[in-house]
Amino acid sequence: MDPFEDTLRRLREAFGVGRTRPAEFRAAQLQGLGRFLRDNRQRLQDALAEDLGKSAIESDVSEIIMCQNEVDLALKNLHTWIKDEPTATNLFTKLGSAFIRKEPFGLVLIIAPWNYPLNLTLVPLVGAIAAGNCVVLKPSEISKGTEKVLAELLPQYLDQSCFAVVLGGPQETGRLLEHKFDYILFTGSPRVGKIVMAAAAKHLTPVTLELGGKNPCYVDDNCDPQTVANRVAWYRYFNAGQTCVAPDYVLCSREMQERLLPALQSAITRFYGDDPQNSPSLGRIINQKHFKRLQGLLGCGRVAIGGQSDESARYIAPTVLVDVQETEPVMQEEIFGPILPLLTVSSLDEAIAFINRREKPLALYAFSNNNQVVNQLLDRTSSGSFGGNEGFIYLTLPTLPLGGVGNSGMGRYHGKFSFDTFSHHRACLLSPAGMERLNEIRYPPYSDWSQQLIRWAMSSQSCTLL
Ligand code: NAD
Repeated sequence: MDPFEDTLRRLREAFGVGRTRPAEFRAAQLQGLGRFLRDNRQRLQDALAEDLGKSAIESDVSEIIMCQNEVDLALKNLHTWIKDEPTATNLFTKLGSAFIRKEPFGLVLIIAPWNYPLNLTLVPLVGAIAAGNCVVLKPSEISKGTEKVLAELLPQYLDQSCFAVVLGGPQETGRLLEHKFDYILFTGSPRVGKIVMAAAAKHLTPVTLELGGKNPCYVDDNCDPQTVANRVAWYRYFNAGQTCVAPDYVLCSREMQERLLPALQSAITRFYGDDPQNSPSLGRIINQKHFKRLQGLLGCGRVAIGGQSDESARYIAPTVLVDVQETEPVMQEEIFGPILPLLTVSSLDEAIAFINRREKPLALYAFSNNNQVVNQLLDRTSSGSFGGNEGFIYLTLPTLPLGGVGNSGMGRYHGKFSFDTFSHHRACLLSPAGMERLNEIRYPPYSDWSQQLIRWAMSSQSCTLL
């Protein structure tokens, strides 16, 4: 017995009769999503606190408000986004009209992880609805509180013939992936990304893969250590370090390391007090498995700041490690917790070589008072996104795409990029049914004169003349 069959059949039928295509329908669903966020704000904050110990302010800025902003942006721009986009013609096609039609793919599957369990489920959903698709949402089974709110309440705000929330872990998701979808957006680890891509390949289903990795953070000698420490500490310890775009490790000179350590200690104390375990602003590790994994990483290098942990509370103190070897586990896997290793390099060139020897990261950060240093990092490396003297606040800009490159993923979304991701861009040319005489020049047999004319009509020169 296949637990998903009925649901998928219902959604496919709704798409087949064109239920999701009218702009009014899409707008009504987006409004429903907005109401879900407003009506259930407290429930969502409670669920995020239960799952990750998230403070209300972190839940608001990184989850609820970001989802609401995406809904508002899509509602404001829906009519412009869905319009056919006229494009230029050439001499052969002058009498016709060429345009791009933004067509929904059909049945979309969105698979989400647990670290921003609301944001990473609903922000893609906004784009999929705006583009006119039916959607199956598969939240993470690990963030149980949020999964429960999504499963119980979200369907009440959406048309259930077109949108469904399905539950399950690896085994159930594996079965779900045996079905044919028309588009899959997956957010999670590179390991599972490969499983999803292999399953999608069986049906030639296009995918967006939003994956993770280790994000380098270069700190130049020419900068104010306290300013850098404040910024790096906030971004590293936000959500207890369980952020895919968090700075994963710092590369700096030995001299800068000595200046950064007291500055990081001062930032941590200012943010979380003398005993961070009592701070309402510091989140908790999602579950025992990840707690154990992170506790293991505390044994790498030497603990310079923090290092305390409490298993019963799934608490790991904001920690800084030094004297870490490249071969140690903390430099071999994505940390995904409140641990920051500092690695020393002797020059900018060495830092760039270090970064380029590894997989392309999801994000890369550079701190310097010298713009040339920041620009060198930008020009000579590759990553999904880049922050100069800044961390991942760029995620709040729907004008910038979120997406990885290489091992950190493929494809992008947020704002209009989400709408485009979930739309097939159909090339259309409508020519007049008559006026056949004008076409005759194209047909064989080709005379010298007609060949010359065809070549000229095809050339870019003719296009610019017209
Ligand atoms: P994960 O890959 O373990 O799980 C993600 C989703 O896949 C979950 O819904 C899970 O149920 C499902 N899943 C797990 N194993 C599966 C399997 N064998 N077959 C089919 N489905 C399976 O990731 P996670 O632990 O939930 O999240 C952490 C990872 O996600 C990190 O690597 C992080 O960097 C990445 N991430 C990336 C982004 C981004 O925007 N690029 C955002 C957040 C998290």
